[in-house]
Amino acid sequence: MPAQILDGKAIAQQTEAELSERVAQLKEKSGGNAPILATILVGGDPASATYVRMKQNACKRVGMESIAVEMPEETTTEELLAKIDELNNNPNCHGILLQHPVPEQIEERDCFDSIALEKDVDGVTCLGFGRMAMGEEAYGSATPQGIMRLLQAYNIPLQGKNAVVVGRSPILGKPMAMMLLNANATVTICHSRTENLADIISRADIVVGAVGKPEFIKADWVKDGAVVVDAGYHPGGVGDIELEPLYDRAVAITPVPGGVGPMTINTLILQSVDAGEKKMA
Ligand code: NAP
Repeated sequence: MPAQILDGKAIAQQTEAELSERVAQLKEKSGGNAPILATILVGGDPASATYVRMKQNACKRVGMESIAVEMPEETTTEELLAKIDELNNNPNCHGILLQHPVPEQIEERDCFDSIALEKDVDGVTCLGFGRMAMGEEAYGSATPQGIMRLLQAYNIPLQGKNAVVVGRSPILGKPMAMMLLNANATVTICHSRTENLADIISRADIVVGAVGKPEFIKADWVKDGAVVVDAGYHPGGVGDIELEPLYDRAVAITPVPGGVGPMTINTLILQSVDAGEKKMA
């Protein structure tokens, strides 16, 4: 049987319609004010500029506003910390997105961690990660949270399943593993020093590819009937997993593009609306 397509684009569109409604209600109650997301772009990386623009456009589509902060390539850690502090103290800013990666002279972790917890709508702070891992209230890191929302939207069973996450980055692999663990999956986290990767993947009921290398995970490592989640996106429209042969063998699969990508931005916007409601409603 062909795999069920986990259509992130469709779920994101459906959620945007609901969010537009929630934003309209907030505006009505608050005399016309919308939730506001501040986006911070440091330096001139064209891919980062595109991602930030896509996030600002998603804000517009649901009726939210954004504050666009652009800082030069030579920005120092202190300058960025000062800008984040200003936004933390701005009552008209409900969420803060610091676009990753920042130029290398900046201590990115210090800057992420200076974002106030209630404005950490992209889920990048250590405090937010720790709270999420402990099952306490916090905004989840946008990409793994988007993947969880996608799996939930299609009622993919997670409890008791063997989930293998390939990648352990702070914004993706690690929080992904914790979220799957919280959903009662049995989780294995793989990374660049993992031995026998193909063998570990072959036992997975759910595989999450978050490696950052085009089609690194081979289709023949994945067992028949697995759920295949590919977070990667590379030139040529391929992900981190060799997906093509799996459309006939997996039980469910995230397409590239149109799977995980739209859910990431959608989760950021959803969490921004949540943050706005907490302050304004
Ligand atoms: P990253 O920070 O570069 O992390 C990559 C991870 O893969 C690391 O943990 C690394 O292990 C592991 N890895 C590298 N080579 C490996 C190997 N040979 N075997 C096993 N593991 C290996 O990347 P990221 O930011 O997590 O992103 C991962 C992917 O997701 C990328 O394709 C990126 O484009 C995509 N992504 C998509 C979205 C979206 O919105 N769709 C958002 C973020 C990222 P070590 O820790 O040992 O180095």
